[in-house]
Amino acid sequence: MHIKKQRLLTPGPTPLYPPALHAMMASDIHHRTADFQNVYKTALADLKEVFGTSNDVLMFAASGTGAMDAAVSNLFSRGDEVIVCTAGKFGERWAEIAKAYGLKANVLKAEYGDVVTPQRVQQALADGPKTRGVFIQASETSTGAEHDVKAIASLVAKTDAIFVVDAITGLGTMPLDIDDWGLDVVIGGSQKAFMIPPGLAFITVSAKAWKHGETADLPHYYFDLKKEKKSADAGDSSWTPATSLILALGEALKYIKKIGMPQMIENAQLLACATRRAVEALGLELFAAGSPGSAVTAVRAPKGMDSGVIVKDFRNRFGAIIANGQGSMQGKIFRIAHLGYFDFADVLSLIASLEIILKANGHDVKLGSGVAAVQEFYLSAMGQKKSCSRDGHGCGTAWPNCPLHSASSTAAKSVKERETVNV
Ligand SMILES: *Cc1c(COP(=O)(O)O)cnc(C)c1O
Repeated sequence: MHIKKQRLLTPGPTPLYPPALHAMMASDIHHRTADFQNVYKTALADLKEVFGTSNDVLMFAASGTGAMDAAVSNLFSRGDEVIVCTAGKFGERWAEIAKAYGLKANVLKAEYGDVVTPQRVQQALADGPKTRGVFIQASETSTGAEHDVKAIASLVAKTDAIFVVDAITGLGTMPLDIDDWGLDVVIGGSQKAFMIPPGLAFITVSAKAWKHGETADLPHYYFDLKKEKKSADAGDSSWTPATSLILALGEALKYIKKIGMPQMIENAQLLACATRRAVEALGLELFAAGSPGSAVTAVRAPKGMDSGVIVKDFRNRFGAIIANGQGSMQGKIFRIAHLGYFDFADVLSLIASLEIILKANGHDVKLGSGVAAVQEFYLSAMGQKKSCSRDGHGCGTAWPNCPLHSASSTAAKSVKERETVNV
């Protein structure tokens, strides 16, 4: 047996930021003390800064789904008409939560790998003038696709509906201007771009959303936004908080602030672009090629090969945990994560490992071709870096050669169009 380091390379949980992990060792602290209240208040203020919003930002001891649940149970009433945009496994979750709480959901479904277009939302809003809410994923982690959040937000903002965005893998991987775009509720989770273990859910609430909450009649107890806001304003959490995770969060947020959120986004975008280059060089096919996001790159397994073989081989040969497809995509795609604590060296090693795995499983691959594509991209992207504007949200147009398919392909075109929208 030889040394095999454990490598967590999934789009949640993501690799942990070591100082955050070390901070958890100070967990022998009581939550109703000034010491901890300082940690808590700082974490909430830093979250607000990193999210870039003046809306309220609250957190729950829960995985991300807890905040999704809270958004529905606190801001809606039984029988409310809502629009649910679903483009994969997590969109289906919105539909399930809406159903569980008795909302009347108009589900706009896109095939896995596709996205729900602003045009469809516009039509649905026109057809449903009583719509109280629109639900979406900024980044659909199960397929790697990214929604045009900005365009859809501008449509919803003109109505009485609130826009509820699961940005659990959107935060830190794509520009999301919560206040300017009018994103009423934005949800995040600790185990994604925040580089710490699972167990904290974040949620922002706009004035428009609070207004919805005033007339909402759905039952809730633990996930109580109003109660949580009152507590947070006093520097407390309503219930016993996940102290160890909040200590970790404090450390991670310090790091994210030091790097800067736009650069965090740029980091994910660069790694995603490099990965797409490598995937093309290896003769593999991108999944969700029309609207690829930067949280995760989904790749089709070569013809005749189950993607589970690739996932298993990553684990057996390299101690690396990468993600298979979820639901109906299982066995068909594998997913390479970019969000959070990932860097170029990670991509180089991952692509080199992938080449070995493909070759060992009989796929015709020229060793080094994917790695070379990453190396070339690294050099050209770093050369361009000075021209990348640093004041805005990310640098969506800074890597015009990012989309892999030839410039004339519709995939490349739609990516370009979207990147223009994003800036
Ligand atoms: C990870 C994730 C979630 C939350 O899942 P949990 O298991 O509850 O943390 C929700 N939406 C998206 C898009 C995700 O990637």
